[in-house]
Amino acid sequence: MLVSSHQGSFMAKIIDGKSLALSLRENVAEQAADFSDETGIAPTLAVVLIGEDPASQIYVGRKLAACRKAGINSIEHRLAVDTTQEELLTLIDRLNADDCVHGILVQLPLPPGLNANELLNRIDPAKDVDGFHPVNVGRLSTGTEGLIPCTPLGCMMLLETVVEDFRGMQAVVIGKSNIVGKPVALLLLERECTVTVTHILTRDLDRIVRAADIIVVAAGSPGLVRGSWIKPGAIIIDVGINRITNERGETYIVGDACSEELSHAGAYTPVPGGVGPMTVACLLSNTMKAARHQYRALAPMPVDQEAVSSN
Ligand code: NAD
Repeated sequence: MLVSSHQGSFMAKIIDGKSLALSLRENVAEQAADFSDETGIAPTLAVVLIGEDPASQIYVGRKLAACRKAGINSIEHRLAVDTTQEELLTLIDRLNADDCVHGILVQLPLPPGLNANELLNRIDPAKDVDGFHPVNVGRLSTGTEGLIPCTPLGCMMLLETVVEDFRGMQAVVIGKSNIVGKPVALLLLERECTVTVTHILTRDLDRIVRAADIIVVAAGSPGLVRGSWIKPGAIIIDVGINRITNERGETYIVGDACSEELSHAGAYTPVPGGVGPMTVACLLSNTMKAARHQYRALAPMPVDQEAVSSN
């Protein structure tokens, strides 16, 4: 494990998600340029946003801007709040059938009355850049190649900057959602950590966390993880994004861990500037991966292989 020490005691390293995300985005931009030169087509992401939810508008805006910077073509489908399930399924079918579209993202949450699972399950798994389709969930759980949800993928990349060898490490995941907790637990297990998944009804959470070398917290509960829960040298990946308003009416963002109490940790991710930037960078990376796979699948077979298969 790579950690900094200071006068015999630990001085926590702050894992810089912003700069890691920037280098991933630069890397994707190079891949996108090479792909376009080689194939004559631009990697393309279709983004579907239904309704006027302000947070969703901001997230979609950031994703589209990131695509533009990386040379990934994006197609926006901004739909009215009263769009029906049938209309959305028809749109997804159309995007699935369109060879110029390599990734499809439906921004969640959906307005009330729409069935998110049915929509997500309709996306072609090869274009499922969020990694939420049951086929990709199955691939992740069996350790086979697929599209991995962006935030968990980002968590692992951040961990890789401070962990050389995951094997045998004790990892505790706080939160068991399908989009963060469960997939991150599977990824840690795949790296041969010993993984404990905890949730709102877990008893003695502090005792469980005290045994951990790695803690990934995705609870949406500001300041849940206290410094006294953290073993010296442990690594904390803080996924939480909590909007807090102080007595002067100012709004700011905090994570799920008390960052001011983590000086004895080995390393931790700040909020903001930790996991958040990695999520968008991983979306670009997944879009690039999807584009490459689909191009390969659609590319004409080399002549000698064509001859073999027609015999
Ligand atoms: P969720 O509400 O779907 O799941 C929260 C999980 O945490 C549940 O399993 C719940 O049982 C558990 N939990 C809640 N309070 C707890 C407590 N006090 N003790 C133990 N477990 C507790 O949330 P989610 O979608 O997984 O998101 C979690 C957090 O991560 C939120 O703050 C969200 O905004 C943030 N998030 C950040 C990113 C990013 O890009 N940085 C991406 C997704 C989610």
